[in-house]
Amino acid sequence: VLPDVVWDAAPRQVELWPAMDARLPLVPERQQKCQRTRYLPDADVNVHHSKHGRLGLSGVISCDRYTCPCCGPRKARDVAGQLGACFERHRETNPDGDHWMLTLTVPHRLDDGAQKTNEWLYGASSGFLRSMAWERFADRWGVHARVRAFDAAHGGANGLHPHFHIALFPDRVMVPLATVARLHVGDLEQQLRRERADRRRAKRERTGRTTDAERDDDQQFELEQGARLLYAQALYETAWSAVTVGDVPRMPLRECSQFVRRAFLRELSSGLLPAWISAVKRAGCPHSVSAHAIDLLPSEKAEAYFVKWGLAQEIGLSVEKDRSHLRLLDVVCARLGEPSDIAADLYHEFNEAMRGRAWVTGLTDTCRRLEVTEEDAAAYVERMRERRNAELAREGVEPAPELPELALIVRSHLWGAFLRLGHVEAFAWIKETIARLAFDEPAVQRELDAFLYGIVRSGLDPPD
Ligand SMILES: [Zn+2]
Repeated sequence: VLPDVVWDAAPRQVELWPAMDARLPLVPERQQKCQRTRYLPDADVNVHHSKHGRLGLSGVISCDRYTCPCCGPRKARDVAGQLGACFERHRETNPDGDHWMLTLTVPHRLDDGAQKTNEWLYGASSGFLRSMAWERFADRWGVHARVRAFDAAHGGANGLHPHFHIALFPDRVMVPLATVARLHVGDLEQQLRRERADRRRAKRERTGRTTDAERDDDQQFELEQGARLLYAQALYETAWSAVTVGDVPRMPLRECSQFVRRAFLRELSSGLLPAWISAVKRAGCPHSVSAHAIDLLPSEKAEAYFVKWGLAQEIGLSVEKDRSHLRLLDVVCARLGEPSDIAADLYHEFNEAMRGRAWVTGLTDTCRRLEVTEEDAAAYVERMRERRNAELAREGVEPAPELPELALIVRSHLWGAFLRLGHVEAFAWIKETIARLAFDEPAVQRELDAFLYGIVRSGLDPPD
């Protein structure tokens, strides 16, 4: 297992190109071609300098895998943009709709390995989503659309902890008022118990005698508590009597308090627990499943999670994702000695275990159902970025200025020299040159040609 001290010593996020280098010996040949092998054998390769100052390549093969530091973030960004637009559209078109995030986990031990754990998770998930219990649930709440996304965190003693987050788009979530009142009273009783206990504790800690003011305060407290309970009970009884006359008053879940929403969803998810447990067993997992293996959260969390997952970098949020599988390469790059070999092994094993596995399913279908187009997704990302910039401005942080976009060419016969140099060095040189020549594209291009040509001439022959 990766020692905590090593994990914490790794930088929060290594730059893209060193991470690509560190990944090279850890992946099969096909993936090694990512950003190195050209689409067309003898074509030029383009280097783009984005307005955010990032350098990227085109004309080269992309491995298109989520575990790739280059392809992964791009894919996650696309998914998050589309999903965000879906959440928004669903909210606008379904006044009684809601969004939930269902999380499914399987129990595992360190020596189970990523391959087996994934087998259980994927097997159990498809069994569960075919079960009667799930069908009844989806039918009852009008869940016609769902998007399943894979995620894996490093779970300390138990190794990588793979799980699914499933975005659900229920259409009709009208909750009987009686249920709302019951959950509300339950919440209130708990709250009152906590407040009483706090007061008792405070009293015990106080020395000396109780003053008149304190006695008055106690009395006031008891009265207020009583009033709050009576009000909640009245709400409950009104609802209940309304049920008896045949008309069931209901309210949309999304208008309920945060507590009621959570409590309601907790009840729903515990109703699904038996089906999840039996799906996990049928998938061959020998460990016992805890009640926390399935979880259902209300909308705010769902949207925030998915948006952050893929758009953090894009909209300028912190990309730091502690203990994520994504950070394994950071540890490898940091060259932390023996423990980084462990990180390298973990990355290799995890990457292999994801072969042929779909990271995200149901997105195309959901976009079609909600009539969300690529333009809608792009507009959503733009709005998120503006919102984030406005937030930063309120905190007094200027948004990073946009830089000139540049398109440079690595000429066909110089691509070998570029590779000999390595992406890390080549990009460092290009960045420095762009800054030195004040974004003068033709001048940078001339120097780039001369620089790479110099490498060819110095006897470093191109490999292809
Ligand atoms: Zn790639």
